[in-house]
Amino acid sequence: MIIDVSQLVKEPIGATWRYGFRETAKSPISGDVTLLRTDKGIFVRGTIETTFKAVCSRCLVPLEQPLTLQIEEEYSAQADERAFIINGNQEIDLSEAVRQHLLLATPMKPICREDCAGLCPSCGHNLNLGPCDCPPREIDPRLAQLAMLVSDKEGQ
Ligand SMILES: [Zn+2]
Ligand SMILES: [Zn+2]
Repeated sequence: MIIDVSQLVKEPIGATWRYGFRETAKSPISGDVTLLRTDKGIFVRGTIETTFKAVCSRCLVPLEQPLTLQIEEEYSAQADERAFIINGNQEIDLSEAVRQHLLLATPMKPICREDCAGLCPSCGHNLNLGPCDCPPREIDPRLAQLAMLVSDKEGQ
């Protein structure tokens, strides 16, 4: 996702460019961004579409989810703490910005679907495929007592 901005940096402040890129076999990312020439550099704003790959945190099945990221970042020729740089070849690289936005947008505990039944804690069977042969789990007697207390309260 390297964009040659050598022409844009010669244009006056306020000039804009549209830049689109399509996914390829190498990088499953497509997007449409607007590049705005600012007094400090180039402001990039737009939409990036990608696929988020992970494993379900309950049933461990691989999953892919489409993700749309809204990107807004300023690139400048001078290094500052934001670290988005127009390099010496007058290019900007969107990869790092996309990576950071991706981290923010991906769920901590991805699940394959809302009602994923997960794995049986005893035999590891994927319960989305149907029940396993394990006997029903015994409820901890202390928990059972607690459950009775709760239902007593609710009955009042
Ligand atoms: Zn799952
Ligand atoms: Zn089981």
